[in-house]
Amino acid sequence: MKKKILTSVIITVLFALVIITSSFFALVSMQEVDNTRNILINYNSIMANWKEISKESVNLLRINGNIIDVTVTNKDGKVIFDNTQEGKTVDLNCKEYASIGRDNIGYFEGYSPYYKKDMIFSTLRLGDGTIIRSGVPVGTLDVLYSKNISYYLGVLAVVFVLSIALALKLVRIIIDPVKNLEYVSSKIANGDLQTRIEITSNDELGYLGMSFNNMADQLQSKINEVMDKQNKLESILKSMQSGVIAVDKEDSIILLNPYAKKILGINKEVVGLKLKDVMYKKLYNEILLEEYDTAKEIKVKSPVRRILRVKKTWIINGYEKIGIVISIQDVTEMKRLENMRTQFVANVSHELKTPLTSIKGFAETLRFVEDTETRDKFLDIIDKESERLRRLIDDILVLSNLESRSSEDLIEFYPEEVIEDALNILEDHAKRKNIKLIYHSNNNDKILGHNDKFLQLVINLVENAIKYSDCDKEVLIESSSDDEYYTFRVKDNGYGIPKEDLPRIFERFYRVDKSRKGGGTGLGLAIAKHISKSFGGDIKVESEFGKGSEFTFKVKHL
Ligand code: ADP
Repeated sequence: MKKKILTSVIITVLFALVIITSSFFALVSMQEVDNTRNILINYNSIMANWKEISKESVNLLRINGNIIDVTVTNKDGKVIFDNTQEGKTVDLNCKEYASIGRDNIGYFEGYSPYYKKDMIFSTLRLGDGTIIRSGVPVGTLDVLYSKNISYYLGVLAVVFVLSIALALKLVRIIIDPVKNLEYVSSKIANGDLQTRIEITSNDELGYLGMSFNNMADQLQSKINEVMDKQNKLESILKSMQSGVIAVDKEDSIILLNPYAKKILGINKEVVGLKLKDVMYKKLYNEILLEEYDTAKEIKVKSPVRRILRVKKTWIINGYEKIGIVISIQDVTEMKRLENMRTQFVANVSHELKTPLTSIKGFAETLRFVEDTETRDKFLDIIDKESERLRRLIDDILVLSNLESRSSEDLIEFYPEEVIEDALNILEDHAKRKNIKLIYHSNNNDKILGHNDKFLQLVINLVENAIKYSDCDKEVLIESSSDDEYYTFRVKDNGYGIPKEDLPRIFERFYRVDKSRKGGGTGLGLAIAKHISKSFGGDIKVESEFGKGSEFTFKVKHL
């Protein structure tokens, strides 16, 4: 571009110079010819006044330092003087003489057969018919004088240098903004969207720069918009608790969110790879190759055993199917809970049915019993069963209440206050079996949670210790803390729990020996476990059958 502009400017300047120089030369030659003619006319007048025209005197008359050619003829054309050629007769009818006008002055410019070269002549006819003709060869004109030539060359050189300087300036004016435009556009192309062109002129290049900046602004805002959308989409996909996979028609992965990676056990970047190469074959076949309209549940064994709910939707562009979006949900936990709930309902029905059947049976029989002793016995049984029914319902309500309460309204409290309340409640119960409740506390820390729940936990553990101990025993209750944890411990030397039952005693309705004396609903420990979890703590048991049990609740204190 720079070269092109420079070359075209130089060519234009040279062309202009050539035209100007030739016009100049033409003008100068015309002027020179005019001057020469005037000089010759003057010289003719001078010579007309001379008494005698001699070579010596003619030699004094010069033009541009050259001696002029003088020919004097009489009226018949006979040469009477000639300073270069002698004795010739001149044809007065020839062009050189024919040009003499009424003023007796003639002028001729052209080829002279007399001198055999191009000449400039001026003629003067005197009264007696004598004609003085003076002339110089055209070649002696001063047009190409070396002085002039060097002057022309000097001017030419100056003009040439100036034109180059001008061309360079022009180049800078045109090229610099273009270069700047090129630089800025390459920076923008490389991701630097903040760069803009500095507008320095108010011309077409300035407008071009403005339009470019405008375009860059638009581009930046569009890119920001797209990035914003992309970021939102990415964060939504990242935070989703469902797997999302998108593949194109060729089965290449376009998108696979972190949750999908987790479910499928993928730990590398897979965008661009074929889905069938990164997914287990069986799962791939079940998800992609089988036809299903609604969601479908698939059991997988790898990387862990899971139940997945899968739904696939076509990505449609106009009328063309260009890919598939697969959403995967891990429904293992949901299924487990569903299962548990069904089981729980079955257990509750069963547990409620037992005392109800017994109540119904005894109540029906009671109609036909007349003897008072048996009737009282039956009524006692009905009373006991109703009490059991009440306890069951109470425990179920506690459990459901625990599940429905969220983590709000947590308070900080000293566990001792609650433990003392619980021990007061259970005091009579213990006394009935002559069981001594020994309570130690070295705790000064608060814990965070619901104090009424903690009361329930303490009651359940201490009540069990009393319930599953023989009379006259001791139950040790300890409340302590170390740097990090608060511990509540209940230790008895009662019946103990068989080793094989230990892992299940926190399950709902699980009872070690259903025929055990004083057995409850089987919900007490499930409730205690639930409460310990809601505190963010844990409950553990150590027990030896026939010797006693130790239940420990541990939670981080404040
Ligand atoms: P229950 O209402 O039957 O007491 P729990 O959930 O409180 O139900 O306890 C479950 C089972 O664990 C009880 O049936 C009992 O056999 C056993 N158990 C709980 N605590 C003790 C304990 N301190 N000593 C011995 N066995 C216990």
